[in-house]
Amino acid sequence: MAKRPNPVEAVEAPVRYGEAEGGGCDQAGCENQEAFRCLYRDRRAVDCSWVACAEHLKVVGGRAYCLRHASIVEVLTMAVEQGTQVLPPDLDNRCASLVMWVARDLDEPVVERLVRWGDSGMSIINDPAIRYSRPDRLRQESGHWERVWALANRTGILLRVGLRVEDSRPETVILTGGATHLVSTIPPWIQRHLSGESGRASQSDLVERLAFQQQMLLALDNYVEKYGVTFPNLLVPTRV
Ligand SMILES: [Zn+2]
Ligand SMILES: [Zn+2]
Repeated sequence: MAKRPNPVEAVEAPVRYGEAEGGGCDQAGCENQEAFRCLYRDRRAVDCSWVACAEHLKVVGGRAYCLRHASIVEVLTMAVEQGTQVLPPDLDNRCASLVMWVARDLDEPVVERLVRWGDSGMSIINDPAIRYSRPDRLRQESGHWERVWALANRTGILLRVGLRVEDSRPETVILTGGATHLVSTIPPWIQRHLSGESGRASQSDLVERLAFQQQMLLALDNYVEKYGVTFPNLLVPTRV
């Protein structure tokens, strides 16, 4: 093969890594403690939960991914170069999917409440991403997938509403207000599935979903009624 002249060195942008995480690299047998999240986000805005060291991440287009997603991103990049657009495939995770389904129903009424509860000095944070928090062994917390809404002002978060599903209880949906668990329940359609019932009319499915949604919103309303929009939550009720 003919030796090519030295190409002009392309100026490479610095590699972008995901958030640094405690707990070390997820790769079996790897002892590296300095580890980062994979930057993959699927078409539904679900983030990859994998955390690895620089050695066990692969950089594609200046961004660091876990090995599995690096190959997916390579295919997506190739598709773009060939003029076709392919959406990043879904992360196949039950917990993340459950958060997504319930969050879809809650999004509008929760945002409507934040608008009502806030004032002109506050802003609404409505992050569609479903993020994974790794298990916290010290606090004996299971890993969980979460979607967050919040009210903030210039000093920080005033009210944080989280919808999460934990790895250890993949059927249970948890709604949080600040650090408080407001509702922790298995949605009725999953309960039915678990007990082997099926074949209900779609009309009652809708009623069931609305009732479930209502249960969550009521718990949130009661929480804000009691503690108001402040963080850390004062133990003194705002209204007597
Ligand atoms: Zn590693
Ligand atoms: Zn990944």
